[in-house]
Amino acid sequence: MTKTNLNTPIAPSHLQQRSLETVWHPCTQMKQHEAYPLIPVTSGKGVWLHDADGNCYLDAISSWWVNLFGHSNAYINAAIRDQLEKIEHVMLAGFTHEPVVALSERLRNMAPGTLGHCFYASDGASAIEIALKMSFHYWLLCGQPQKNRFISLQNDYHGETLGALSVTDVAIFKQTYAPLLRQCTHVPTPDWRYAEPGESAHDYAIRAAAALEQHVAENYEQIAALILEPLVQGATGMGMYHPIYLQRAREICHQYQIHMIADEIAVGFGRTGTLFACNQADIAPDFLCLSKGLSGGYLPLSVVMTTDTIYQAFYDDKIAHAFLHSHSHSGNALACRAALATLDIFEQNQIIDANKIKAAYLNKIATALAAHPKVINFRNCGMIWAFEVETEEADFAATCFQAGLKQQLLLRPLGRTIYFMPPYIINEQEMDLLVNGTLQILDTL
Ligand SMILES: *Cc1c(COP(=O)(O)O)cnc(C)c1O
Repeated sequence: MTKTNLNTPIAPSHLQQRSLETVWHPCTQMKQHEAYPLIPVTSGKGVWLHDADGNCYLDAISSWWVNLFGHSNAYINAAIRDQLEKIEHVMLAGFTHEPVVALSERLRNMAPGTLGHCFYASDGASAIEIALKMSFHYWLLCGQPQKNRFISLQNDYHGETLGALSVTDVAIFKQTYAPLLRQCTHVPTPDWRYAEPGESAHDYAIRAAAALEQHVAENYEQIAALILEPLVQGATGMGMYHPIYLQRAREICHQYQIHMIADEIAVGFGRTGTLFACNQADIAPDFLCLSKGLSGGYLPLSVVMTTDTIYQAFYDDKIAHAFLHSHSHSGNALACRAALATLDIFEQNQIIDANKIKAAYLNKIATALAAHPKVINFRNCGMIWAFEVETEEADFAATCFQAGLKQQLLLRPLGRTIYFMPPYIINEQEMDLLVNGTLQILDTL
């Protein structure tokens, strides 16, 4: 271990080594960094990240799906700076402030259905914990304490904390911790890659919904909620499915009196081509979880929106009927201002329409990619593209990541699935670079 003077700036050339000496990086086998160097990022602008050695990388995955309008966005920067001069943060129990009120009003007006109240946390996983606890507590308050089980979709991902991991079904993240987790039933995924040959995505979704109905019909008395990732199952490798499944799931939840929790942490704010994925099925969940793009990817912020029926069940003279859950940074003023600025950009620039044009362009230039002999299941939903690569490479994800850097691309495959989830400000020239660079990678691997 080297002793370092803590007050002097760190020379960029020392960042890699000093990071390895003291930072435990997320979702990383740290020993792999003996072979693969960390990338010390010194600045970013638009879709580009710049490193200490003067390289730049096109952030094709929006820094883990959070960034919507580019790095160092002038408009969001200005809003945060302005807020910084007023109040950076105040506890949200007993206090309130303009950014959190304005954000809650705007979210209520945008969200599907009538989701009247917003409960804030900092990360996606915390939002999931909140929704699960609220759902259970609601049924408890309604005199149905036996409704304490949750169901989710096969291959769903909802985060890494114990409650969120319990409803997750991605083995690599979950298996090790199984003894710590609550039982959860995962009903068959509607992901169309599982369809029989000749079966349409629509018909397969209907078949998956029938399996859901059968499970719910037999177990609804014990089930508090169905939680799902609407339209795109992200972490499992961008599994996509037909909106009819959401419609059927909504009907089934109504019919058997169980809550529907829509985890739009990854897909909310335009990712699937509509503001929310639920819009494509014209449904409203009982709980809507949002994070990632909510603050434009700037600051940790998440929210659980819920119906008046649920809110009212907690509204009582008895303290114990309240939702006694808190996070220190709940409703952080700077994060809420970043979110308000993000929503401004959506409105002022008609982003949803603009994205349709961008997506059409990318689909047009990606025909060679879709037809590449190593590529299967090429798929697109809104501003998400994904495909599997037929490869013998044992550690394809790591090899492809390294090959991407040589093409100035930040790609981080999920297993053998390469995906693009670029910031919405990506332009045609940058899309050309992304597609051509990816073709180069496929030809060299
Ligand atoms: C990322 C993600 C989460 C967890 O959010 P964190 O902020 O990483 O805790 C939950 N659900 C989905 C669908 C996600 O993509």
